[in-house]
Amino acid sequence: MKIINFAKKNALFSIGVALYIFVAIMQPDQLKSVAYYTFIYFKELFEVLPLIILLATVIDAWVPKEVILNKLGKDSGKMGYFFSFVIGSISAGPIYASFPIVKLLMEKGASVGNAVIIISSWAVIKVPMLINEVKFLGFEFMALRWVLTIAAILVMSQIVQKFVSNEEVLAMNSEEEKPPLEIIEEYCVGCGICSKISPDDFEIIDKKAIVKPGYILGPTVMEASRRCPTNAIILNVGKEKKGKKSA
Ligand code: SF4
Repeated sequence: MKIINFAKKNALFSIGVALYIFVAIMQPDQLKSVAYYTFIYFKELFEVLPLIILLATVIDAWVPKEVILNKLGKDSGKMGYFFSFVIGSISAGPIYASFPIVKLLMEKGASVGNAVIIISSWAVIKVPMLINEVKFLGFEFMALRWVLTIAAILVMSQIVQKFVSNEEVLAMNSEEEKPPLEIIEEYCVGCGICSKISPDDFEIIDKKAIVKPGYILGPTVMEASRRCPTNAIILNVGKEKKGKKSA
């Protein structure tokens, strides 16, 4: 039972182990080469991991949330696109290095759309990559691909922004049992928009919004969440529907 629970919680790891066992049984002569490529992958991962941790720590400690919200938040507009392209393009390292950084930026207020731009630019329009592209394929090829790629990334970012919310992305990896409605205190700037839109469900105390006991997850709460300027109101939808105190 414990093994099954562990396998469920660590699905990717379990699939990897299962594939190893499969190769060991079905094609034992390939096991050595599978182990070699696994080693190469982990070696690369551990080479970049300290840098990722360092960068994430610097962003977490030194870049205020307000800065991320202004430059990369859902209302950052063209400036947000610009900064997202710059962050992705000047980055180094494999694409998977971008994921923890982008997650951290999203936790601090970066929008889903800008997250898509950062990850996509990191993958396909990094500056060193463009330099090599010019060397092997010529400037015209690189420039045309660059322009078309940027256009495609912008379209993708708009589509994802329309259909996926920050809350959904951030809640995906969380294993904690969360209340259906909560306010992230450090994000709240006490503007009072939520309590004006939905006075039965929110109130402001000491310049911070709190969820009132007996709140109802109705249209006004949804509207308040949508209009909160700092994405502080989190709807953990798909769980309980009403009447629980905020944590
Ligand atoms: S709208 Fe958002 S930022 Fe403003 S008081 Fe409510 S939770 Fe805080």
